[in-house]
Amino acid sequence: MTTSLRTPPNHTVLQVGPLKPSLERTLSENYGALVLPDEASERGAFLSTHGPEVTAVVTSGRSGVDADLMRALPHLGAVVNFGVGYDTTDVDAAAERGVGVSNTPDVLTDCVADTAVGLMIDVMRQFSAADRYVRAGRWPADGNYPLTHQVSNRRVGIIGLGRIGSAIAKRLTAFGCTISYHNRSQKADSPYAYVDSPAALARGVDVLVVAAAGGDGTRRLVDAEVIDALGSSGYLINIARGSVVDEAALVDALTNGRLAGAGLDVFTDEPNVPEELLALDNVVLLPHVGSGTVETRAAMEQLTLDNLDEFLRNGRLLTPVVEPAMAV
Ligand code: NAP
Repeated sequence: MTTSLRTPPNHTVLQVGPLKPSLERTLSENYGALVLPDEASERGAFLSTHGPEVTAVVTSGRSGVDADLMRALPHLGAVVNFGVGYDTTDVDAAAERGVGVSNTPDVLTDCVADTAVGLMIDVMRQFSAADRYVRAGRWPADGNYPLTHQVSNRRVGIIGLGRIGSAIAKRLTAFGCTISYHNRSQKADSPYAYVDSPAALARGVDVLVVAAAGGDGTRRLVDAEVIDALGSSGYLINIARGSVVDEAALVDALTNGRLAGAGLDVFTDEPNVPEELLALDNVVLLPHVGSGTVETRAAMEQLTLDNLDEFLRNGRLLTPVVEPAMAV
């Protein structure tokens, strides 16, 4: 139990995994939050002592709360997730236990969509590679940089036309691109053409952008068949989750010239990036920075704290993925 100002006496907040430093500080100073030890060997003793008092967890898509951890927190009422992707939290187990889960939708949509478009321009025009060419002194030595490929007026397929996918479509429409998409179901109000499978979508476009939610339902949705359907003149952009793409198949296609290029913000085993990709100039590699601006991260931090306050005061969440059901 804590006596901190913002945490009522019947609540205890637990931080799970590393968070934005200012958020960690606020949780510690204003909410008296406990911190789950990183070391697995220390967790058992910590959870035996503190597990029963914890009523709210604050975490991120990097760590999340699995079913085992949920079982060790018998009075948990809410998992407050910093980030829109919550695939590391077991939402089925949460729903079964009446544990609410919230995320931070909308506030990061623009920056992640900007990142997708930036990756698309970079990989097709090879700006990062051309920058390396200049810095290496190759312009005077080797002459003009080789020609690259046009971005405007291309056919773009989006897997996951949700908030971020729609913002990407809006931006690329202004570039004269033709947009088509694949979701599990067609969006009634969408102006874009719906295609009923990822492979069929890939077959008809120049660029495939992955913007679907992560998790078991989308694991390796973009597999070897989809990558081959995109073909040797096609580009893949992934700003969703590494798990959505079969990374081994992607590396194989890129190293063997069966895909023109890829722009990747996310990977299967972050922060590890397949060694084979590092030497390729037709690949742009970003360290999961899609939402990483001062403005967007501040808005995510605020929404995280607003969700936490709403739960601690009223037992509800402002942006729930799963509604809390447990009276704490
Ligand atoms: P959203 O609005 O919930 O959109 C998710 C989309 O994925 C929906 O259109 C959904 O459509 C589709 N989808 C889900 N399962 C699918 C399946 N099995 N097959 C095809 N489509 C499927 O979420 P958002 O706010 O746009 O965020 C999307 C994802 O971006 C997040 O989940 C997160 O993982 C990722 N993200 C990455 C970064 C980064 O830094 N790179 C930052 C923020 C978010 P249906 O339900 O109709 O299938």
